[in-house]
Amino acid sequence: MTIGILGEGAADNRVAVTPEHITLLKALKVEKIIIEAGAGINASYPDADYTSKAAEITSRENVINSSDVIIKINPVENPELRNISGKVLIGGFNPLINTNFVTDCLNANVSAFSLDVIPRTTRAQAMDILSSMATVAGYKAVLVAASHLPKFFPMFMTAAGTITPAKVLVLGAGVAGLQAISTAKRLGAVVEASDVRQAAKEEVLSLGAKFVDVEGATEDKTAGGYAVEQSDEFKKRQQAKVQEHAAKSDVVICTAQIPGRKAPVLLLKDTVMQMKPGSVIVDLAASTGGNCEVTENGKTIQINGVSVIGDSTLPSSMPYDASKMFGKNVLNFIKLMIDKEGNLSLNWSDDLITGTCIAHNGEVKNERLKVLMSQLVN
Ligand code: NAD
Repeated sequence: MTIGILGEGAADNRVAVTPEHITLLKALKVEKIIIEAGAGINASYPDADYTSKAAEITSRENVINSSDVIIKINPVENPELRNISGKVLIGGFNPLINTNFVTDCLNANVSAFSLDVIPRTTRAQAMDILSSMATVAGYKAVLVAASHLPKFFPMFMTAAGTITPAKVLVLGAGVAGLQAISTAKRLGAVVEASDVRQAAKEEVLSLGAKFVDVEGATEDKTAGGYAVEQSDEFKKRQQAKVQEHAAKSDVVICTAQIPGRKAPVLLLKDTVMQMKPGSVIVDLAASTGGNCEVTENGKTIQINGVSVIGDSTLPSSMPYDASKMFGKNVLNFIKLMIDKEGNLSLNWSDDLITGTCIAHNGEVKNERLKVLMSQLVN
């Protein structure tokens, strides 16, 4: 079997597999591993690092034509996708939003597996690209905020006087939020965080941050640990509480999200207007509408001296480690579809194989996506 790795092009600095993963793929008895020339260069993995691990550098066309399994982080577009017909494609394709890509895979008869819809079970944790990328984004969001803020993060006692520490408010304490809290604490800020799940409170407190409680949140034990939609009455109270705390903060990091939904609006325009000039909001939920009412995805805007940063590409700005984490997740997943002789073997009774399969033989296997696609047709 030949595994091919495609580059991501100019829009994304990451690469789906790094040189250290080539060694691990070889250990699985994969016969041949080929990689598009220059695919890793923007992530600081030169071609020579891949060839030193016995991978072959080749043209993009040759990767597409000669591989049985192709790995790429972002979707492969037509007409290239049509040339992958009958082959396996693995990546993170955002299929619940990018349904056109699912249709293209079905039409092109590509067997596509998208790790961003892997069931969030214990066994799947080592393959969870969403958690990996949220870790990167939560960390980088704080660094972006620190570089925009016209103030120090830590407290300083200097001969020129005392500098008070920055105040950081983190909205949503899931993977990205907890990472943002730890990073802001390490930089010396005073940190507060809020979430609608009581389980998140303990985690926030254990990181040394203060928890901003909004009482009366709806929780659903059957939601697999995820937050659920809140009542209009709760939303109003939450927005008021957020306003009270945001007005005193120098930085707000927004990470609140219910998977597959539009992001909840927690920070109204009125709240932004009440924040101190020079304050910074980094909205990680920008691609699904943002937690802040005025966020524009892919843009940094200024409102009353407050910078509102809507960046959905933070993992691409830390491509070395983001690629390392993505590649390790893919490697753990690919083990499920390789037999002892290093050949492709798709086990459809494995819930992680079916749960990630967005197209195979013209059929969607992921249950949630199947329902969504049938609704789109009807
Ligand atoms: P997660 O599901 O682990 O965490 C989201 C948290 O938000 C949960 O703890 C949930 O309880 C909380 N939440 C939901 N509704 C809420 C509400 N109304 N009020 C307060 N808290 C609420 O998600 P994650 O993996 O940490 O990702 C967080 C966000 O970051 C997502 O929007 C994700 O798409 C985004 N993200 C952005 C980038 C980027 O480059 N900007 C990269 C990766 C992830």
